[in-house]
Parts: sequence; C-alpha cells; structure tokens
Amino acid sequence: MAKIICVLYDDPVDGYPKTYARDGIPVIKSYPDGQTAPTPQKIDFKPGELLGSVSGALGLKKWAKDNGHQLVVTSDKEPPNSTLDRELPDAEVVISQPFWPAYMTADRFDKAKKLKLIITAGIGSDHTDLEAASKHGVTVAEVTYSNSISVAEHVVMMILSLVRNYIPSHDWVRKGGWNIADCVERAYDLEGMNVGTVAAGRIGTAVLRRLKPFDVKLHYTDRHRLPANVEKELGVTFHENMESLLKVCDVVTLNTPLYKETEHMINDKTLALMKRGTYLVNTARGKLCDRDAIVRALKSGQLAGYAGDVWYPQPAPKDHPWRTMPHEGMTPHTSGTTLSAQARYSAGTREILECFFAGKPIREEYLIVQGGHLAGAGAHSYKLAG
Ligand code: NDP
Repeated sequence: MAKIICVLYDDPVDGYPKTYARDGIPVIKSYPDGQTAPTPQKIDFKPGELLGSVSGALGLKKWAKDNGHQLVVTSDKEPPNSTLDRELPDAEVVISQPFWPAYMTADRFDKAKKLKLIITAGIGSDHTDLEAASKHGVTVAEVTYSNSISVAEHVVMMILSLVRNYIPSHDWVRKGGWNIADCVERAYDLEGMNVGTVAAGRIGTAVLRRLKPFDVKLHYTDRHRLPANVEKELGVTFHENMESLLKVCDVVTLNTPLYKETEHMINDKTLALMKRGTYLVNTARGKLCDRDAIVRALKSGQLAGYAGDVWYPQPAPKDHPWRTMPHEGMTPHTSGTTLSAQARYSAGTREILECFFAGKPIREEYLIVQGGHLAGAGAHSYKLAG
C-alpha cells in the first residue's frame, strides 16, 4: 500500500462533463517510429473522457482502490502550504502533467523522504529537478510519444493562424463586423515561405511532415542529422546551428526540450538575427524564450507574430505580458492534452505504475532518471550539470 499524489488541473468551470462532442476517439496502436502505444494490463476509463482534470484522475481511482493504494488527487500545488506540500512527506509516488506541473524542486525532494517515483503524465520532465531526483535515487518516468503528434498538429494550426491572421479576423466576426481590410492587412499565404524547426525529434519531424504538402521550403537544426533518406523525402535543409536557420526562415518553430543550455535560446540577440516580420511558434517550453525580449520584438515588428501554449510559470499569472502583447496567438498549455492525448498518457501512466508496483522494468523509452543517473529517453534529451 502506497500513497500516490496526483496533481491535476481543475475541472471545467461548469463542472465535470456529462456528455462529449464526439462518441469516441480513433484507436492508435503505434507511433510513427514503430513504438507501441501504452500497454497497461487494463484501463478503467472510456477513451475520449476528460481524464486530465481532478475528477478524471487519469482514470486511476478504481485501480488504486483495488490495489489498496491511497490516491490523493488535487490541483492545489503552490508552496509552501498546498495539499501537495502537506501530503508529500509520506508519498511514494508523485504524478503530474506539464500542463499543471508539480514543480518538484530540491526543497520538495528534501521533504519527500519516502519518494520513489515521479511520473510525468505527458512529455517533458523539466518541472522536476532531475539533479535532485538523481541525488535522492528517485525514478522519473514520462509517457514518451503519447502526445507528440497532438503537439505537432497544434504547431501547424498556430503557424497557419498567425500567417493568415485568423484570430483577429475571427474577433471581427464576434464583434459583428465585416472588416475585410482590417482582417487582411496582416494576412499572407504560407506557400513559398521558409519554415524551420529548431530540433527535429518526434514533434519537430512530425511538424516537417505535416507542413510538406503546403509547398513551403523546409529547414531544421538539431544536434544530430536526420537520416539522409528522410532529409530527401522531406526536401528539408539542415543547418549546423540555430543561428544559421534563424537568418533564412520566415516561420520558426521551437521543439527542443528545456534544460540549462536551451533556456532563453531565443533572446534579444538571436531575435535580431531573424528577418523582420518572422513568425515564432513555441509549444515546447516557455523558458526557451526570454519573456520580455519576445514582447519587445512584437512591439518593434521584428516578430510579426508569436504563438504557443507554454509559459513560465504555469499557470501563468494574470498579468503575464504574453496575455496582452500584440500579435499573439497564445493558448493555455493545451496542445498535448486533447482528449485523444489524455487517453494515451493516462494508459501510459497506468502502465508505469503497474510495472513499478510489480517490480518489473519500466519501458526504457519512458525512463528519464533511474538509479541516480539519466536513463532511457532522459539520457538522450537532458544533461545534468557536472
Ligand atoms: P524528442 O526527444 O523526440 O525531441 C527533442 C529533439 O530536440 C531531439 O531531436 C534532440 O536532439 C533535440 N535537441 C535537444 N537539444 C537541442 C539543441 N540544443 N539544439 C537543437 N536540437 C536539440 O522530444 P519531443 O519531440 O517528443 O518533444 C520535444 C519537447 O516538446 C519536449 O521536451 C517538451 O518540452 C515539449 N512538449 C510539449 C508539449 C505540449 O503540450 N506543449 C507536449 C509534449 C512535449 P537529438 O536527440 O538529435 O540529440
């Protein structure tokens, strides 16, 4: 019997849904690289239900009860007196999602004497201090690939909505207007533009694949080159470094993990390398960008638009300047938590829990930290200082 704390975002303001817009979701059995979708022994939810909020509880309530575990589900996570902080001293497992992250700081590790496992229900474990996890021998795992395609779709949506000036045009309709000139004075076609991704991992490559039919000129930079046949198939130009890519692109999308070296990779200096009027889409992590440099670049016209769903901190404070800066297409952190994605990462969370409590190995591709070191996907994505 273990105590498991599950930190999730709040239910909808009108309460947990009684019905849904659709009756189900497509069944995805495997991902583009052949990795199988999560394979828990069983699930106790209907795919397509809201699972990522407190009442949904990632579909884990019955499993926890049947297995005698104490499952504490809460959205209350701000230190020092939150439910998370109160429950932490005797918890063995902490689960949270990047959308509503339980920031697992060194301080919290010091208090969580029994902690053995941290699960990111989703992808991106930068909200956990991975150094501290290594030091305390805590395993960190995430559900690799569960929402990569969800994010790639969001990136394509945001690129098109910025370039075509969709959101301001929609606002005119809501206001009762028919102001075509107002709508189109900032509207362009994507066709023919240079579009580049900073990182071509699961999400970055999926974005390239989805954009190819738009007859754009594709670019990427990454620490490792894609296989030659993939570069050829996509007709994508490789750049040795981000700076080279920034100089030629009209649209840039960021798809790197956040760690020390990538923090603030977009700043006044790198923004100045871009063509005037570049569009920037960031669904990776808010801290990849210098917050105020983005605002300055939008105000000066250096950036024609900025869209994304990732902020720092999360939830973003009411006065966060990205809520009100010009030419923004921001959403809360939603791209990786569609109902479709929730079904996959909830099943993946259950798979990790089943393995952990049965003493079986957790899939290598889900591991971030294990046995005091970066492991699996984590060894590939992150670096520890020293
Ligand atoms: P992957 O691990 O598949 O891809 C990350 C890529 O980034 C790898 O190809 C890696 O290079 C590359 N990379 C790392 N550091 C650099 C660098 N300094 N410069 C250039 N490239 C670099 O992860 P995903 O594509 O699945 O996810 C990427 C990130 O997106 C996650 O870490 C997470 O932060 C974010 N994300 C956001 C979500 C949302 O809801 N908004 C949901 C899911 C993820 P290589 O491996 O070649 O060394």
